Amino acid sequence: MLTTTQISQLKTKIESDIAQLQEDIPGLEAMTQAIAPDNAIGRLSRMDAINTRSANQTALNAVRIRLAKLTQTLPTIDHAEYNECDECLVEIPFARLMLVPESEYCVACSEKLSG
Ligand SMILES: [Zn+2]
Repeated sequence: MLTTTQISQLKTKIESDIAQLQEDIPGLEAMTQAIAPDNAIGRLSRMDAINTRSANQTALNAVRIRLAKLTQTLPTIDHAEYNECDECLVEIPFARLMLVPESEYCVACSEKLSG
């Protein structure tokens, strides 16, 4: 069970992560705009531009997914099951939640499930 202080620390952490992600989105969106077929930039530069755009698109998707998860997580952090691993029901350590507040699993389960 998390203490009131821990819950309020997590709330601050999530709110600041959300604010940071929301700030990152417009910049990433600008970098994923369609590349005009401009002969002046040349074929190789155009390939570079396409690769960079694809990397930025991946980054933008990751930011959007994390933002959605954090937004869903925020109203649940004072629920008793918030810090329970969805898989094995052990308590997820507070330190892990401060790093990854949207954690659904303990470290062991998350490694097991992703590997
Ligand atoms: Zn677990």
